[in-house]
Amino acid sequence: MNQLNPRPTKALITGGAGFIGSHLAAHLLEQGQEVQVIDDLSTGSMSNINHLKAHAGFGYTIADVRDEPLLAELVDGAEVIYHLAAAVGVRLIVESPVKTIETNVGCTEVVLKLANKKGKKVVVASTSEVYGKNEDVPFKEDHDLVMGPTIKARWAYACSKAIDEFLALAYHRARGLPVVVVRLFNTVGPGQTGRYGMVLPTFVQQALSGQAITVFGDGSQSRCFSEVGEVVAALAALAQSQAAVGQVVNVGSSQEISIMELAQLVKELAGSKSDIRLVPYEQAYAEGFEDMPRRVPDVTKLQELVGTVPQMGIADIAKSVIRYYRER
Ligand code: UDP
Repeated sequence: MNQLNPRPTKALITGGAGFIGSHLAAHLLEQGQEVQVIDDLSTGSMSNINHLKAHAGFGYTIADVRDEPLLAELVDGAEVIYHLAAAVGVRLIVESPVKTIETNVGCTEVVLKLANKKGKKVVVASTSEVYGKNEDVPFKEDHDLVMGPTIKARWAYACSKAIDEFLALAYHRARGLPVVVVRLFNTVGPGQTGRYGMVLPTFVQQALSGQAITVFGDGSQSRCFSEVGEVVAALAALAQSQAAVGQVVNVGSSQEISIMELAQLVKELAGSKSDIRLVPYEQAYAEGFEDMPRRVPDVTKLQELVGTVPQMGIADIAKSVIRYYRER
């Protein structure tokens, strides 16, 4: 049986103007919770939260999470903190390595320190990137993390998020702070921008504009895509689960698709005449870039903790993203 806490009613979302954070804000507001968002708009955008502003239970602050006096006040007013503020997207990570490490580690340090002072629960967003080059799919939360060398910028992201996980779990073990670490797998849906290199919005925009759909490598690499609404519902449910405290939990879908199949699917669903073009990795990213051939979550733990896992198939998700871009 799932043990549920009394439902928290006041949430703080760091990175709440981002793609996942803004969907989480909308979900919590729908549940009748009060939601405060802090975001520096580095990759987030006001357009993600403009529609929430009219809601009486919603508030937002545009600032860096590392503004400690400000964050302390926001933490004070919250019952649960969803820490989503981070440098995201492979392109950004390769292009801005210093910012990636400083943001990911620095923000988490401040959030955990202040939450610990007040004994507030923290849901820390981590990433499937931490499994690195492990090829032993599906990935279980206690599997080894297999990182590449420090000379390859991509691994800075995985390592910075692994440090976040270590720090959160250390606060839990050593200081009793209630934390839940969630490893998010490829999360997609309406509202996601292709600006930071994410594949589905990129393919949809290419297909709708008649540009070539750019498949990196030979397209045989695969991913499991989950729909953002289902992902944020899982985060909200995990925040209420007493059994999830102190745990690392994969959040994603186990339905796998190759990137070439994804390109073909998007082209077909969009009724597009775009060519599908193979782009060598060296051209797409920096020299020596390493991509993961497969990334599949084991979602047994999520199922046990909250009684459900993301279900929506990639065709339905792609249709909703195509609709979103058509309407813009
Ligand atoms: N990808 C691609 N074309 C693009 C963008 C991404 O083929 O225009 C590939 C990328 O190399 C990776 C997969 O799609 O194999 C997923 O990329 P994304 O950046 O969305 O997420 P990742 O799984 O790398 O974090």
